[in-house]
Amino acid sequence: EKLSSKDAIALEEKFGAHNYHPLPVVLSRGEGVFVWDVEKRKYYDFLSAYSAVNQGHCHPKIVGAMIQQAQTLTLTSRAFYNNMLGRFEKLAAETFGYNKLLPMNTGAEAVETALKICRKWAYEKKGLPENQAQIIVCENNFHGRTTTIISFSNDPVARKNYGPFTEGFIKIEYNNLKALEEVLENNKNIAGFLVEPIQGEAGVYVPSEDYLAKAKELCKKHNILFIADEVQTGIARTGKLLATCGNCSCPDRHCSGTPEVKPDILILGKALSGGAYPVSGVLANDEIMEVIKPGSHGSTFGGNPVAAAVGIAALEVVKEEGLAENAYILGELFREELNKFIPNCNIVKSVRGKGLLNAILINDTEDSSTAWNICLALRDNGLLAKPTHGNIIRFAPPLVMTKEQLLECVGIIIKTLRMFEK
Ligand code: PMP
Repeated sequence: EKLSSKDAIALEEKFGAHNYHPLPVVLSRGEGVFVWDVEKRKYYDFLSAYSAVNQGHCHPKIVGAMIQQAQTLTLTSRAFYNNMLGRFEKLAAETFGYNKLLPMNTGAEAVETALKICRKWAYEKKGLPENQAQIIVCENNFHGRTTTIISFSNDPVARKNYGPFTEGFIKIEYNNLKALEEVLENNKNIAGFLVEPIQGEAGVYVPSEDYLAKAKELCKKHNILFIADEVQTGIARTGKLLATCGNCSCPDRHCSGTPEVKPDILILGKALSGGAYPVSGVLANDEIMEVIKPGSHGSTFGGNPVAAAVGIAALEVVKEEGLAENAYILGELFREELNKFIPNCNIVKSVRGKGLLNAILINDTEDSSTAWNICLALRDNGLLAKPTHGNIIRFAPPLVMTKEQLLECVGIIIKTLRMFEK
């Protein structure tokens, strides 16, 4: 039975909890950088499910691996070994330069896992007094939606009436090394520093060039763990395999010359599966990961054979298709093209970002409906994007985009923005 867009929306509104405010478009198919709605209208996807579909929609290699595994064995739980997980763990460990992977399903779960590992490490290895560990986090962070994670969120709507919250977090200003140093020098029981290399949900806020490297140095000096949440920035999105990549062993040309910021704990999700299946994970070296013992953490679905098969294919696609390089080149081009337009318009203040994680700031700061209305107009012109919040619109297309496609998208964006000029 065929559903019209109108009927599909009505059905969701009636029977689904209203925990999102989707742009009114009902998608039923995707391929590469494109998605189609149920009326067969074609759109450029400029969100990639919040940077999960980096490898493009329905990538044949990823879908093929998923189908083959789904027809063979889907779930054993970790009560038994399966013949796929070790291969995925090996590839992830080698790709990102760690000894161990702890597989989970969603980004928030992986963040929770990292926080648990960090606290356990602080008690068992660093000798902090029981139940005293503090973890430093940043203002305007986004790390997910569990009760512990929203305990240190700044978003009043995300927090409202969900307390009591988890203790043990100290919040400092993002991109402020002095603030980090001050907290480290004035507190005894710090276990770690949790940070997004670029704050995605906060509006694609890019810190100063040396922020992460210097923050890592401070963490090292004070013997606390530097925990990078690369759920949104990881897997080639910012023009490097990881936003924290420096002079590391990964093949990305654009890593050389940037300082290496190897996190003690690395959190990945989203594009770890290319958006095909929920796959997340936490990476660390033995010295840290060995605090995790049988029974101390787990998940029925974490590390299942389908997730492992999908994860392997998704990582192979990133390497085989040079997606980090492509994201770097197209990202430079995207900002360059928009920066030609911005001085001659009164609707956009600026464009910012790295690789293909970008955002524009709409001039109309008073009225956040402008950003929403621009996204509706972009949709009508064949391109799907969403405001992160307020007057900021994020642009994060799949990384398999061609230069010609990107330029066509820039054309659509500029044409649409012109409609809102005052
Ligand atoms: N961390 C970051 C940096 C994210 O951007 C997100 C999702 N936007 C999450 C964690 C949470 O991931 P998930 O929605 O899969 O729980």
